[in-house]
Amino acid sequence: AKRAELDTLVIEREMMSGGQILSTYEVDNYPGLPGSSGFDLGMKFREHADQLGAVFTEDCIESAELSGAVKTLYGQKEAYQARTVIIATGARHKKLGIPGEEELSGSGVSYCATCDGAFFKDKTAAVIGGGDVALEDAIFLSRLCKKVHLIHRRDELRGAKTLQKRVLESDKIEVHWNTVADAIEGDGRVESLVLTNRKTGETERLETDGVFIAVGIEPESSAFSQIVETDSQGYFAAGEDGATSVPGVFAAGDVRTKQLRQVLTAASDGANCVTSVERYLAER
Ligand code: NAP
Repeated sequence: AKRAELDTLVIEREMMSGGQILSTYEVDNYPGLPGSSGFDLGMKFREHADQLGAVFTEDCIESAELSGAVKTLYGQKEAYQARTVIIATGARHKKLGIPGEEELSGSGVSYCATCDGAFFKDKTAAVIGGGDVALEDAIFLSRLCKKVHLIHRRDELRGAKTLQKRVLESDKIEVHWNTVADAIEGDGRVESLVLTNRKTGETERLETDGVFIAVGIEPESSAFSQIVETDSQGYFAAGEDGATSVPGVFAAGDVRTKQLRQVLTAASDGANCVTSVERYLAER
């Protein structure tokens, strides 16, 4: 937006820019920068925006008035006005909702292997899920832990084939197929997971020091979901141009309804949204 010479304010909830990639050990599918850590990539994006003169502020938007020609965003600290808004609030980790998850969160239950993995050096960890994040987490943890259990509810993994290959070839990762976690147990710290095999109905207690939950994401759309149309899962309904049901309001990245949620497609959404913003402003 700044390159298009638009007066641009970026409102970030966290001090660090980068969102979900900050906790990604390695982003290997962003062209031209193979093997970058998510943190480095986030910092590069931020430096680039800073160099161009985009202004950043730290706040959390809680509600908004978006219908008029001038939109107002109400943050915890301040109110902001703009003629157009690009919502790029991303997505957050889903919870499993099983006994012990909430109580032992931070005491062995984690949603971020790269943030908390170091606490499980030479210990045993279990990862729940079968998508890209679960596979990446299992691979990352297998470098540190003496044993990693991957708990997946089906007999086929969802994540990328390259990651599947690395998981299945690892002698440290054991995949528990058709298996669901019913409870996380421990006295003040995670000690075990109660598992049920969905095919045989058998239940077992698996001893583990850590439980990493990677069962998907849900959109961070609540501040705007009463005003801007969403799909059935709460993602903002918008096409490639980013235009939402509210004129002058655009959606980019993981919070938009789309086929593929990657840094690459999020960056592409950003470029499309800015073009849409320029057109919208030129027409008025
Ligand atoms: P995801 O692709 O939605 O996978 C979630 C996994 O958790 C699935 O295997 C699912 O099982 C399982 N699951 C969901 N609810 C469950 C429950 N209640 N109990 C047990 N298992 C459950 O989510 P993700 O791995 O977090 O990835 C989120 C998005 O980011 C995806 O679009 C992914 O492609 C993208 N991503 C991309 C990259 C990359 O390109 N490098 C890296 C990370 C993430 P089923 O398979 O049976 O549905």
